[in-house]
Amino acid sequence: MKKRKMTLKNKIIEETGGGILKCFNCGICAGSCPTARVSNHNPRKIIRKILLNREVNDDVWLCANCFMCSARCPNGVDIPKIIDYLKVKAMQKRGNHNVIFNKSFLRSVEMFGRLYEAGFLAEFKMRDVSIRAVKGAINDISLVPHFLLKGKIGFFPHKVKNPDEIKKIFKKVREVEKIKL
Ligand code: SF4
Ligand code: SF4
Repeated sequence: MKKRKMTLKNKIIEETGGGILKCFNCGICAGSCPTARVSNHNPRKIIRKILLNREVNDDVWLCANCFMCSARCPNGVDIPKIIDYLKVKAMQKRGNHNVIFNKSFLRSVEMFGRLYEAGFLAEFKMRDVSIRAVKGAINDISLVPHFLLKGKIGFFPHKVKNPDEIKKIFKKVREVEKIKL
């Protein structure tokens, strides 16, 4: 039997089931997506790019996993599952700006059970050494006094009551996804 070429489309069909092939490009998912209303994120376009074997790039990182798209899709395409697959694949690579952001964010949540903004920002800026990040860091540092005065960020982290429960969730996800968070 002829072996199927491992394009992104075929990998997704294999890993997430063939649901993506049912998409008929109606756009209901994009019309239902809360993130699409305020950004360039667009689930219909993501699905289309995959089906045309085009690169998806950073389009997936704004997905909030709210499941509105899949709940309203007339063909039951599991779009969040497909987007999660793309995120996991990106997490397995190094160096991407959004992956570094995501990892720094998750590490903070794992340690404290919630986001420790100052720690997260410091780690993210240290790991991301791109020119864009250096410019961003200078800009962010200038905003720190303002945020401190407004009480938006604190000097010290606040932990949730049972941080060990959160750590267990992270451990389980690592086992299932085989990724380094
Ligand atoms: S709602 Fe479903 S069928 Fe319509 S474009 Fe989105 S994924 Fe495709
Ligand atoms: S799960 Fe992601 S793509 Fe789907 S509606 Fe929510 S934010 Fe949009």
